[in-house]
Order: sequence, then C-alpha cells, then structure tokens
Amino acid sequence: MSGVENGPGIGADAEELIGRFGASLWEYAVYTLDPLGVVSTWNHGAERITGASAEEVIGRNISVFYTAEQLAAGQPEELLEQAARFGSHTDEGWRVRKDGTRFWAHVTTIALWSSDGTLRGFARVTRDDTELHSRLERSLRQFRDLFGLTPVGIGVFDRYGYVLDSNPALRELLGYREHEMSGAHIANMVHPDEPGRESLRLAFRSGKPPNEDFTQEWSMIRADGRRVICELHIAKSVRASGESFWLAVFQDVTERHRRAEEWRYWATHDSLTGLPNRAAVNELLSGTDTRGFAMLYCDIINFRRINESLGLRAGDELLIELAKRMRSDLPREWLAARMAADEYLIVCPEPAAAGGIEMIADTVGELFHRPVYLRGHPPIRVSASIGIAVGEETTSTADELLRSAGAAVMEAKASERRRISVAGPETISEMERKVELESELRTAIESDELTLFYQPIVRASGAILAAEALVRWRHPRRGLLSPDTFLPVAESADLLGELDRCVLRTAMRDAAEWPVKPDGHRAAVSVNLAELSPGDPDFVATLDTIENRTGFDRRDVVMELLETSLVNVSGRGRRTMRELTEQGLRFAVDDFGTGYSSLARLRELPIDVIKIDRDFVADVANTRADLMVVKAIADLAKAIGCTCTAEGVETFEQFELLRDVGVHTFQGWLFAPAMPLTELKALLAAGPLEQRTGENA
Ligand code: C2E
Ligand code: CA
Ligand code: CA
Repeated sequence: MSGVENGPGIGADAEELIGRFGASLWEYAVYTLDPLGVVSTWNHGAERITGASAEEVIGRNISVFYTAEQLAAGQPEELLEQAARFGSHTDEGWRVRKDGTRFWAHVTTIALWSSDGTLRGFARVTRDDTELHSRLERSLRQFRDLFGLTPVGIGVFDRYGYVLDSNPALRELLGYREHEMSGAHIANMVHPDEPGRESLRLAFRSGKPPNEDFTQEWSMIRADGRRVICELHIAKSVRASGESFWLAVFQDVTERHRRAEEWRYWATHDSLTGLPNRAAVNELLSGTDTRGFAMLYCDIINFRRINESLGLRAGDELLIELAKRMRSDLPREWLAARMAADEYLIVCPEPAAAGGIEMIADTVGELFHRPVYLRGHPPIRVSASIGIAVGEETTSTADELLRSAGAAVMEAKASERRRISVAGPETISEMERKVELESELRTAIESDELTLFYQPIVRASGAILAAEALVRWRHPRRGLLSPDTFLPVAESADLLGELDRCVLRTAMRDAAEWPVKPDGHRAAVSVNLAELSPGDPDFVATLDTIENRTGFDRRDVVMELLETSLVNVSGRGRRTMRELTEQGLRFAVDDFGTGYSSLARLRELPIDVIKIDRDFVADVANTRADLMVVKAIADLAKAIGCTCTAEGVETFEQFELLRDVGVHTFQGWLFAPAMPLTELKALLAAGPLEQRTGENA
C-alpha cells in the first residue's frame, strides 16, 4: 500500500477494512487513491471488473478507466472534488476496461482524512452494473417507445401536478406543442366549468392528490379552447429516489359521451316534435318543489278524426306546428312537453306573474285554436280539452300535480260543454277510484270472475225458446254490480273486447249444462257483443276455439249485435255472418229502433231476430204512436223473415198488445227476471212459463 499512510479517524477504519477484506472481495472493486487520483491499492474484484492487474494499475492515475469524453469534461477530478467536499460521493456511469470494452459502474468514493485534517486520499467501491443497467435501459427504451406510440394520452406529473413528461397522444389530444406542455399544471388542462377543477388544484398543492388509482370523467380544455371529455386514470408512483410522482392516462371519451347524450336526448325527447317527453318531464320535475306551479294538461279534441280525414302526414304536421308554437310563444321559463300522441303538458312556474290561471288557460287555449296552415289543406282550427292543476300545500309534489292535471283533463273531456276543467280536491280521488275499478275489472275478466245471469225469452205460449246472458260482476266490496255501472269502465279501459270473449266463453260453457227438452231441442243462448264484430279477422277463430272447448253447438247460439254496430259491418263481416248463419248460428239486432240502420241495409244482412227496444215497449199501453212503431217493426220483421222479440215486457196488457200486433217472442219481468244459472236450469227443467201468460202451449 503505497501513498497512503495509516491514521486515525474514519479514513483509518476504512483503510483497515479495505486492507482486511477488500483484498479478498470478488464482487466489488475496492481500491484506494491518493488525493490526485493515483491508484494505491487494487483488489481482486478490481482486477476482475477492469481486466487490469494490481501491478499494471498501482501508481497510475485512475483516469485511465474513463472515456475520452469524460476526460474532456474533467470528470475524474470532479468526482474526487465532490467526495472531498461532502465526505463521500456516489455516481454512475460508463467506464472503460483494459480491453477497451465498457462497463456501467456504480461508484462510491469516500474521502480519507488524516488526524490533522489533511486529505490523505480516497477509498472507492465500484460495482459492475452493466447487466442491470442494460436491463433497465431496455425496459426504459421499451417504455419510451410505448409511451410515444400509444394512442392514449399519457402524462407524468410531479407531486404538485406539473407536467414532467407527456406523450405525443396527450399533446395532440389537448392541442399543445411539446414545449407548451412541459411545466403545465394538470388543473389548467381541466375545463374551467368543470366543478372539480379547483379542488384538483388544491389537492395537488397540498401534496394530497386524488386517491390512488382513481378514475373519473373530466371535461378538459384544449389549447384552442375546445372541450374534450376524458376518462382520467391517475396512479401514484415512486421513483427510486423516493420522490413520488403521478402517472395520468387520458382517454378521450368525447365521442362516447356524445352518443350517450344523443341516446339520452332521444329517450327523453319526442322524436316528432323534439319536445321533452313524459320521461323527461318526470326527470325534470322530480324533486322540484312545485308548490304554486300551474300544470295544464292539454288534449286535442277529435284529433283522431283529423288524422282520419286529413291523413297521418297532416296529423303529424299539425302536432309539429303546435309544438313550434309552444316553443316560440310561451315564456321561456315555462315547460312544454308532449306526453302522448295528442297530449301536451304545459308547466308554468309562476301563474300569478303570468296573469293568473284564467289568463294562462286563455293563452294556451288560443295557442291551440289559432288556425293551422297545412300543405294542401284549407286552414284548420283545433281545440284542446285542458285540465289545470295548481300546486297547493296538499298537492305539492310534481307527481301529484301531474295526476291532478291528468284527472282534470279527463273531466274536461267527459263533459260536453266544458273544455277547461280545474282540478279540485275530489278530482283525483274520483280518478283514482276509476283507475282502481278499471284494474279490478281487468283482473276479473282475466280470471273469469264475471258471472252471467240469464233471462228467458218465451213464446206467447210461455215455452222458453232461449235465454239471454246478462253479465254481472260480483265485486268483493261493492257486491253485485250491473252492467250499466261497469260497462262504461270497460269501455274507457279498452276492455270491451276481452269482456265479450269472456261472456261468450262463459255463456256457452253454462248453456252446455242446460237440460234438453223432451222434443230433443234445447234453449238457445243469446249473447250480447259490444266490441267483437263479425268483421274482426279472428272472429271465427275465437268462436271455433270456444266451441271446441265447451262442446256447445253454435246452432244454439244467438249473437245480439247493436243496430249501430251493424251499420258499420264491412264486406268481410257480411261474408262471415253469412257463413256462420249457414252453419246455424243466429244474429239478432238488439235495441232495434234506437239506431239508424236503413231497412235496405238490414235486408243485406243475415239477421234472424229483431229485438224491439225496451223504450218502445214501455209505452205501448199508453202511447198509440209507440204501438204503431212496434207494429211497423213487427211487420218489417215478418216481411224479411225475422223473428220479432219484445224486451222489457212488464205487464199483461203490454204482452197482449204486442202479441196482437205480431210480436212473436217476449222477454221481461212479466215472465221472468234475469236469474242465476242454477235457477234458470230449474226453470228450464220445469217447462213452459204458462201461469204468467195465462195460455197453454
Ligand atoms: P239489453 O241487452 O237490452 O238487456 C236487457 C236489459 O233489460 C237487462 O238489463 C235486463 O235485466 C233488463 N230487463 C229485463 N226485463 C226487463 C223488464 O221487464 N223491465 C225492465 N225495465 N228491464 C228489464 P241489464 O242486465 O242491466 O243489462 C243492461 C244492458 O247491459 C243490456 O241491455 C246490454 O246492453 C248490456 N249487457 C248486459 N249484459 C251484457 C253482456 O254480457 N255483454 C255486453 N256486451 N253487454 C251486456
Ligand atoms: Ca241484449
Ligand atoms: Ca236490448
């Protein structure tokens, strides 16, 4: 060991350590230098790493292992100066082996001092990190390649949120050039109207950025001011030095957003008029305190007829025009929405400021009533039924208010004269009762809970020819309901067709149990049809199915159709009627005399029975004119070969008069009221109803 003297202090300890262990250390180059960098000791490890032996090296300056550039930059001296100044110094860099190849050196230099404070030299430990370095280098290079190529924006931010590095995709996404990007703050890339912007800035400033691995959508602002929506993934990372930084991935989701927005728009807007739809109204008003709001539910009167007479195109144009008016004419703070085909909702948040309810109703009514000019048509005027509800303390939620307005418009529609109806406290409960009844009726029909009563139809002799099925509803709370109370409910709930099918099914099933008369014939069952019509495409199929299921022969079925519905029977309906008649089924015209059927029309149809309306029968005994009408109908029936039945026969006097003008069959309380199935079966088994007519068969 030349050039270095043993001495006290840390230097002496290090030297001793090196002397003892350094010589045998194989992994590390351990050697000492004099203050100028001349090598004084050189261990095996140093020989192994550099390929130069102790003899070759000792006495020479360590600079022989540096590259030309490092020498030019004065590195060897610089490193020693640093170590001398700070006590020790660590550095990494390329060094040159004896054979000229390079190795990556991790070098720690420790200054050695003598007890009097003079620099004695340096001890050094050098590790060959070539392999580790090239691995790192490779992965770093791969990372950089990836960083540059990936289409997703990536930014590296220091712990305060300033850009350390960015990839081209991020610069393109945000429209920055490279130099503009470096040093920019992440919060400044967030759009100013993004609510999280300032808290993001604060979070970074306080050194506590968003939780690790946080993902969120942010509105970002490009250098040119345009908005891009990014899904931001931020993850914390720590450098080898212990310094933390942030990796942020910016995924452009603007397009996805636009699409989602568009979908949302069309889910909440009516595609014909562009007005918000019912879903949008629910969304917009949910949670809104609507106390004091006025809601106007508007339903165009006779829109269906406009559609039918002018065509669907014109109907659409009309709806569009009305929507246009609502957008342009109504105050901006009002809301106009299309709730259904020809139903609009108008919401006025401050009715008092708008001149009060009456004024508002006028404005809206006028909006509908102003003439509309449709291409190729004369100007048309429409009117709307308007239901108004004002949010009071009691109806404060938007939902309640909407229901009230809906109930009020129903009321307005139902009344002939009143076009406008303002919801009162009872409006809603009435509506709700109706809605409840509708749903109960639907259930009753679906589960075959309707009951049929039967009323015999007899000959003058008292012999029972048939029985008319008359529907009843055994309501769990209201008891036995007559058709007059629930048929209107069925009609408004669009349940008449279902009800007809249910009645037909039940009647044929019931009648299959009726006793057969001694002569082999059985009484026919007479069924009322309100909605089903022989013109319906599935009419025959329905009948076939029921006949198969009940085993009841269609030859014993009479279908009672209203005179009014017969007027509208189509060509197809007529053919079906003829077909069925040939198969033995019979048709009756019910309530004859109340409709407008022309006699000529009647003759075209295969009708077997004409039932004279109860109203004429009621007055035959008092009013001569009514008796004459009845006689005329009986004559007509005879002329076209029909049976003539009188219904509602209550007195013997009526019966005699009717019989004498040529009525063949009778139905009414004089003979028997409508009765449950069991009673009818007993009656049928007992034979003719002779006592009441006073005649014998
Ligand atoms: P409708 O077809 O004219 O039925 C005759 C109605 O007159 C029945 O009333 C019957 O009970 C009643 N009636 C019978 N005899 C007399 C009498 O001597 N005097 C008086 N004042 N009335 C008498 P209901 O059962 O209340 O039926 C009323 C209407 O409801 C029926 O008039 C019919 O239009 C309809 N309807 C009844 N059942 C059904 C049905 O199953 N389906 C359909 N679609 N409508 C039905
Ligand atoms: Ca009837
Ligand atoms: Ca009738």
